[in-house]
Amino acid sequence: MADQEVFDYVIVGAGSAGCVLANRLSADPAARVLLLEAGGEDDADAIHIPAAFATLFKTKYDWNYETVEQKHTGKKEYWPRGKMLGGCSSINAMIYIRGNRLDYDGWRDSHGAEGWGFDDVLPYFKRAEANQRLGGPLHGTDGPLHVEDRRFTHELSSAWVDSAVNWGLKRTDDFNGESQEGAGLYQVTCKKGARWSTADAYLRPALSRPNLTVRTNAQATRVVLEGNRAVGVSYLQNGVEQTARAESEVLLSGGAINSPQLLLLSGIGPAEHLREQGIDVAVALPGVGENLHDHPASGIVWSTRGTTDVADAATPAGLVRYQLTKRGPLASNIGEAGAFYSTVDGLAAPNMQVHVAPTLFYDNGFREPTVKGFTSAATLVDVASRGRLRLKSSNPLWKPEIDPSYYAEPADFDAMMSGLRSLIEIGRSGALAKFLDKPFLPATHDLDDHALAEHIRQNTQTLYHPVGTCAMGTGEQAVVDPSLKVRGVDGLRVVDASVMPVVPRGNTNAPTIMVAEKAADLIRGG
Ligand SMILES: Cc1cc2nc3c(=O)[nH]c(=O)nc-3n(C[C@H](O)[C@H](O)[C@H](O)COP(=O)(O)OP(=O)(O)OC[C@H]3O[C@@H](n4cnc5c(N)ncnc54)[C@H](O)[C@@H]3O)c2cc1C
Repeated sequence: MADQEVFDYVIVGAGSAGCVLANRLSADPAARVLLLEAGGEDDADAIHIPAAFATLFKTKYDWNYETVEQKHTGKKEYWPRGKMLGGCSSINAMIYIRGNRLDYDGWRDSHGAEGWGFDDVLPYFKRAEANQRLGGPLHGTDGPLHVEDRRFTHELSSAWVDSAVNWGLKRTDDFNGESQEGAGLYQVTCKKGARWSTADAYLRPALSRPNLTVRTNAQATRVVLEGNRAVGVSYLQNGVEQTARAESEVLLSGGAINSPQLLLLSGIGPAEHLREQGIDVAVALPGVGENLHDHPASGIVWSTRGTTDVADAATPAGLVRYQLTKRGPLASNIGEAGAFYSTVDGLAAPNMQVHVAPTLFYDNGFREPTVKGFTSAATLVDVASRGRLRLKSSNPLWKPEIDPSYYAEPADFDAMMSGLRSLIEIGRSGALAKFLDKPFLPATHDLDDHALAEHIRQNTQTLYHPVGTCAMGTGEQAVVDPSLKVRGVDGLRVVDASVMPVVPRGNTNAPTIMVAEKAADLIRGG
């Protein structure tokens, strides 16, 4: 390997996890760290203005994926993924949720992820967190990741919380406290009204370190193996293929789509599939790309009266107000409020999360705001259905085949039916009702089961939380062991949302950051 640059660690992907690793590993001045990012800088205004996140969809800042046609909805689903410094933490809706204690205990007890029970991971959530309101034994206050109450809350969001309480949910001001259940306003990963991505929180503070090299527009194409040891990464930058050598470890943080794709491209995965693609099998690992799952969401939308729509602020004057004060409707993260609850009695933890938005937000926000509106979306957070990711080509520039198999398990669909029924009831009760003019989507809310099911099929979308494709554990299908080392390969770990054997109940940015915080300790520990 002549004229190659040599590092100790080569990290692939500067997203939620990769930026954490880059910071924590380069804190040791003796460690030479290379961070490769396929996208460019996080340099668009819309990245930093919370309410503008969906305007980044289908731009150069987005990988712009699409699932295969889903058998149980009859539709292909658009899947945005951030392609820039910060990855999805630069395009997401900024909601700060950790998940339920039982999620992590389940990783340990049902998947053999020793060391990842809730009590083990809580210190890493806290190490990351700089909560501006909450403290005590469950929250961190001086970590890199700013967590704050939004600087703008629309009256519809507060009214929805009141109505949900009126309907029977308890009010909470901390979804990450002792109990996850209840209705309330979400905290966000923002700092003084602006997005606070992992590029802001972890990468920029480390950029002046001489031992950290960051390459943007550098897309990894293959892990270089010598026998069963990962020794480097090949990548394309400006059309030129280069190889960086890793004397210590290669760390894949490309996310739940790209990390399994890169393993497959490197000959690590299900042997038969690799052979079909004409790829030499380096290490047969049947679980790579399997276990893909996501949180499906489906909304109910009303037109409103006697109030504003948060989209009304998307004017030059609204922008000037935001830029001068970092306040006003553009400081909204759109998904301002919500709830966690169970649609059936007797569950040990919530199976449903609600996201509400003081605007029309359906079809990933691509619809023009033709009327002033309000959306509440049921989000299934205890998902039984499992799909998979496969290569369509051995060409690393091709997108992979993505199949989350939404609703493959009928229980998932049943839960969604109950979830939407609850949202219709909440809309009819309490403080919210006076603002709701009439049903907008579907056009009537007096629906029999057949009509509601059809609404769900036509209006399911991703809540943007794919995980599980390089699952951690000890079983046959595990891809990484509990220290996140790829099984059967030396010098290679996966550190991102793909290692989660089961998606936590809630939004996945904070859990991914936690994974990377813990991984940094595991890596430094050898
Ligand atoms: C629209 C949207 C809204 C969301 N809203 C929320 C929310 O409100 N709250 C929340 O908690 N979570 C939210 N999420 C989910 C959350 O942001 C993700 O789960 C989390 O960021 C995943 O982190 P990651 O490190 O696994 O991957 P990513 O953050 O996607 O990082 C992967 C990085 O690797 C780069 N990369 C990929 N392949 C290569 C390659 N071959 N070579 C070099 N670089 C590569 C990518 O460009 C990217 O920068 C949202 C996600 C999206 C897309």
